[in-house]
Amino acid sequence: MPTIDCCSQPGLMPIESAREKLLETLSPISGTENLSLAQAAGRVLAEDVFSTVNLPPCDNSAMDGYALRFEDLASGLPLELIGKSFAGAPFDGVVNPGTCVRIMTGAAVPAGADTVVMQENVDAQEESIRINGEVRPGDHIRRCGEDVAEGASLLKAGVRISVPHIALLAAAGVGTVAVVRKPVIALFSTGDELRQPGEALGTGDIYDSNRIALLAALDQLDLEILDLGILPDNKQAITNALQRASQEADAIITSGGVSVGEADYTREVLEELGEIGFWKVAMKPGKPFAFGFLQGTPFFGLPGNPVSALVTFYQLAVPALSVMKGDQWTGPQTLQAKLLKPLKKKPGRTDFQRGVYRSDGSGALVVEPVGTQGSHILTGLAVANCFIVLARDSGSVEAEEQVVIEPLGVPLG
Ligand code: AMP
Ligand code: MG
Repeated sequence: MPTIDCCSQPGLMPIESAREKLLETLSPISGTENLSLAQAAGRVLAEDVFSTVNLPPCDNSAMDGYALRFEDLASGLPLELIGKSFAGAPFDGVVNPGTCVRIMTGAAVPAGADTVVMQENVDAQEESIRINGEVRPGDHIRRCGEDVAEGASLLKAGVRISVPHIALLAAAGVGTVAVVRKPVIALFSTGDELRQPGEALGTGDIYDSNRIALLAALDQLDLEILDLGILPDNKQAITNALQRASQEADAIITSGGVSVGEADYTREVLEELGEIGFWKVAMKPGKPFAFGFLQGTPFFGLPGNPVSALVTFYQLAVPALSVMKGDQWTGPQTLQAKLLKPLKKKPGRTDFQRGVYRSDGSGALVVEPVGTQGSHILTGLAVANCFIVLARDSGSVEAEEQVVIEPLGVPLG
């Protein structure tokens, strides 16, 4: 089981180190499944794919026109029309000297012919044609194997399959592909106060927004979900759920119960049943984030506060999950923008303020923080289109300064 030394870095772990630990500790899950090609977009290819055919499979015409022998054109004599080659209905004779064949786009170039003249450059009679435009030898023929040669590599294992990839594989006659199976992610919320949206709220209750948002986010990331629902703040219930999750899932995500309150059991149970990799990250919001392993299954303990839960999910869980999916995580996508309002900050934690960025009309970006930044203020996150990322050591930032932003909604790994 991978281990992480949580104690070499006293205090809070910088977010960069936390991410690095996650990325170096986790690896792609094993196991593949075969999918029909049309279902494979977005999945990671599990093995190299080679072409069993030439592409195009034979010389064929790129134009509607006439297939002929280039050397016949020197005489200027009309060419005898001896047949037709259509896509799917080739001419099976031979184009002998002085003859030609009517040919359509995609039709096989008949034996003997070496050039196609497009019909716009031909005076055609019933039984013969004359050429009236400039012709070069080999014109308008798509060569056998010019796109892909038989036996050539089409795609390498590890590639995330795109729609153009699917077009290429389909053109090469590939019907099914082996892809890395989807990681199964077990998910539950903890909290006696939590109710499922749609239920009535008692005094002191709130709706479980974290789990619903995370279900949607995991679905967007194309992960399989084991939804274990809402758990009470009860050590036994959490123990049972974590044990089941560690057996049935590839990773576990929970929300709540990782702080230092008297009902915060999740981290405590993790410590007893498994091992804590690290706990508490120098980020705001999201400080209580906990990472560890339960019988070899990675565990991501997100804080309960809704903004903290989503910020830690995007900043820490998503890179980790993308590694498990077999993807390369290439780091947060960042841009620079001019801050329109000052932001208060104390050095010590990386700040992920919620902001709205836009172009200033001349190609430069400006960003405005959303009003209130509390970790329970969901409206701010909901209107934001980026995080404004203020470095751990930075203090307050003045208006007009350039800041780093991370647009939301771009694929996060
Ligand atoms: P905790 O991390 O359990 O101490 O929770 C911190 C705060 O987040 C508390 O105000 C909780 O009521 C709230 N909270 C915890 N879990 C959720 C959840 N699933 N959805 C919305 N808010 C939550
Ligand atoms: Mg709680």
